[in-house]
Amino acid sequence: MASISIRNLVKRYGHGPSANQVIHGVDAEISDGEFVVIVGPSGCGKSTLLRMVAGLEEVSEGEIRIGDRVVNNVEPADRDIAMVFQNYALYPHMSVYDNMAYGLKIKKVPVDEIRTRVDKAAKILELSALLDRKPRALSGGQRQRVAMGRAIVRNPQVFLFDEPLSNLDAKLRAQTRLEIQKLHAELGVTSLFVTHDQVEAMTLAQRMIVMNGGRMEQFGTPEEVYARP
Ligand code: ADP
Ligand code: ADP
Repeated sequence: MASISIRNLVKRYGHGPSANQVIHGVDAEISDGEFVVIVGPSGCGKSTLLRMVAGLEEVSEGEIRIGDRVVNNVEPADRDIAMVFQNYALYPHMSVYDNMAYGLKIKKVPVDEIRTRVDKAAKILELSALLDRKPRALSGGQRQRVAMGRAIVRNPQVFLFDEPLSNLDAKLRAQTRLEIQKLHAELGVTSLFVTHDQVEAMTLAQRMIVMNGGRMEQFGTPEEVYARP
């Protein structure tokens, strides 16, 4: 687990006079183990902010720290983060176990260690009985949980969620939301979760960052944010 510190963060796409500035100096201190939701209308910069923390977009100005390490120039794979996306692409020809183990195999984690981590994640996500199945033999909710399992087995310091619920139907969305809450309760991993859905934000957030037009308008608990006129 680790804190995340965002200081005077600026993002421009393009260069020179035609550059498009989409993040205008965001400052946020996220505590170790905290669940923070970034919320705001489409195009306000949520995804760009998250992708900079992930290392998928370059920082134009400012600083991002994960724990006490400045990560501006650190490759995504070396940031101790795991991302959960809205489009969970599982490998169709691989079992649930192999889907979860794949990233660790690539990283040459020892087989015993892989087995321990996958078993632990499967237990948390109630997938233990399904490890031999192929994705096509799973329900939508189970597939979503396998996608989360792939993130968990990395033992990340930080979870980054990019609208993981937005393509799901209402029932599955509610189920997956509960899964994510349970996951956070059990592992306590520092989490940043992007959504445009205010109800989702309020339900999940310990604190929320409200973005608008590339600026951070508010940063507080749901009570604090919604108490404002
Ligand atoms: P959100 O996630 O809140 O919908 P984004 O972070 O995706 O917002 O986008 C913020 C702004 O940055 C938008 O105006 C978008 O068009 C622009 N943008 C995002 N990615 C790129 C890119 N790769 N190149 C140029 N502009 C981009
Ligand atoms: P998302 O909801 O994931 O932000 P988008 O449709 O906004 O989906 O963006 C899809 C991809 O296109 C992202 O990788 C984003 O960085 C990129 N993108 C978004 N807006 C622009 C843009 N104006 N110019 C170039 N790329 C963009």
